Amino acid sequence: MGSWVRCKCEELVHTNMFCGTGISLIVEEDYLDEERPNKSAEDFISELVVTRSRLLECGNCKRLIVLDERNNEIKYYKLEDNA
Ligand SMILES: [Zn+2]
Repeated sequence: MGSWVRCKCEELVHTNMFCGTGISLIVEEDYLDEERPNKSAEDFISELVVTRSRLLECGNCKRLIVLDERNNEIKYYKLEDNA
C-alpha cells in the first residue's frame, strides 16, 4: 500500500504517520492492558504505529477510514445526518 488511500468520494487521504496529517491509531483495551515489563514507552509507541490500525478522516466528505495494513483491509464509515 502506498502512503495514500482513495476515499469513496475520490479524495486522496494521506496514510503516513508523523506528517501532521491528524491520523489516529486504534488501540484495543486488552492490548493496552498487556504487561510489557522490559519495554520502554518509546518502543511501545513504535510497536503501536507498526501493528495497530489507523483511523483517518477524509477532508472532503468527512468519512472515517479504518486502515489495517497487516490484513490489507480498508473500511469506510460515512457520517450520518443529524436529523
Ligand atoms: Zn471522502
